[in-house]
This record gives sequence, C-alpha cells and structure tokens, in this order.
Amino acid sequence: MEKPHYYSLPKLPYGYKELAPYISEEQLQLHHEKHHQAYVTGANAAFEKLEQARKAGGDLDMKATLKELSFHIGGHLLHSLFWENLAPAGRGGGGKPAGILGAAIDKEFGGFERFRAEFTQASVSVEGSGWAALAFCRMSNRPLVMQIEKHHVNVYPMFPILLVLDVWEHAYYLDYRNLRAKFVEAFWSIVNWEEANRRLSALLKGGVK
Ligand code: FE
Repeated sequence: MEKPHYYSLPKLPYGYKELAPYISEEQLQLHHEKHHQAYVTGANAAFEKLEQARKAGGDLDMKATLKELSFHIGGHLLHSLFWENLAPAGRGGGGKPAGILGAAIDKEFGGFERFRAEFTQASVSVEGSGWAALAFCRMSNRPLVMQIEKHHVNVYPMFPILLVLDVWEHAYYLDYRNLRAKFVEAFWSIVNWEEANRRLSALLKGGVK
C-alpha cells in the first residue's frame, strides 16, 4: 500500500480519561487535538509551500522554510512517540524497565534510580520549551539522555529515540500550572517501559549501524 504523502494526527492508544489523575482528560485532549494537530498542520503547510514553489518554478526562502519544516516535523514525530510511550498507571504505565532496556540502563547508569535522576534533571532544566529523551547510540551501544530544545535543537544526529517526555508548558499548564517538576514526577507513573523496550529490541534486531 502506498504511504500517505502528508501527515495526519494519530489516534491515542488509550482514552482521554485513562491517564488521570496524572494527566487530566481536559489537558490530554487539548494537548492532542489542538497542540499536536498544530504541528501536523504546520508540517503539511511547509510541504505545500515547497510543492507550490516547485510547480511555479519560483524562488523560496529556503532557510525559513526548512527551519519551519524541521520544527513542525519534530513536533509531530515527537508527539506521536510520546503518546505511544505512555500508558495508564498500573495497566502498562509506571514501574521500571525490564528486558534488554533494563539491562542497558543498569550497565550505563549504574541502576535505574541514577537514570531516573538524570532524566528528571534533563526534563526540569530544558531551557524554554522542549523535551527529554532517551536515545540509543548504535556505535557505542549506549543509552543516552538527550535534552531537546523546542522540537529539534540539541538532537544527537542519527540516534534513534526510544522514549520522550514533553516538557512544553502546554503539556502541563492546566493540571500543574507552572510546576514542571510536578508533571515530571507524575510521568514516572504513566511511562510505558514495555514500549521503550520493544523499540530497543526492534532496533537491535534490525542490525542497522
Ligand atoms: Fe506537546
């Protein structure tokens, strides 16, 4: 089947009410339907701009267009992963990583608690709006914490991402007001480790360097 040529908003793998009390229904619905949708729309608009310019054969401000494209694609793809790596508390959400991811984290960080502290610090201290991510380097076989500003700044090129946490203010302002650290604390009760472990397994099986 041919893949679609434009982006669309993915469905969530759970209902809007199911991440409560860690993320309220209102907060989750707004985040998904309005904020995530805006990045989908923005990326498609940038594609459209490129296509129109190609058809017309005219010039385009490449610097501005590509910056816009990078920002919106980053926003769309990171949100798509974020929804997948959350799960209702006690039904896939929370706990500690097991399997090969658990072992890789233990080896790299010396234990889950240290990893959790580093990831929490990365999340809380992102300048402005951004993300904390758990990435994996296939060359050194290391899991790494990545701190992303906006959706695309400070990214380690070519490193696949296993897990992300959105720390844009729109992710938590209704539930937690300006208290980002409280939202980060809540994240640990709804993080879906099975999904992150599945991603690492698939990556290692793929054998891509
Ligand atoms: Fe967001």
